[in-house]
Amino acid sequence: MALMITDECINCDVCEPECPNGAISQGEEIYVIDPNLCTECVGHYDTPQCVEVCPVECIHVSPDHKESKEQLQQKFLVITGQAG
Ligand code: SF4
Ligand code: SF4
Repeated sequence: MALMITDECINCDVCEPECPNGAISQGEEIYVIDPNLCTECVGHYDTPQCVEVCPVECIHVSPDHKESKEQLQQKFLVITGQAG
């Protein structure tokens, strides 16, 4: 599943540079995750790096973007230009 940032975000900017897919950016009020780019870090790391660093634990799985590990792996291959 892609992850999402809730309105508990304090705009600390710690997560943005940690994302290997460039999926995190500053939104109008809080930071946002592009669900088309978030692979839950599948393909890069064993754990979601943004969740690891967020000091207020406001990053959760998005109920609107349910994806299996296989789908996340396929998304990683597409994003990185390795999809056959
Ligand atoms: S889980 Fe990984 S890919 Fe998704 S937004 Fe967080 S750091 Fe980026
Ligand atoms: S690390 Fe957490 S609090 Fe900081 S900008 Fe990212 S989502 Fe917001």
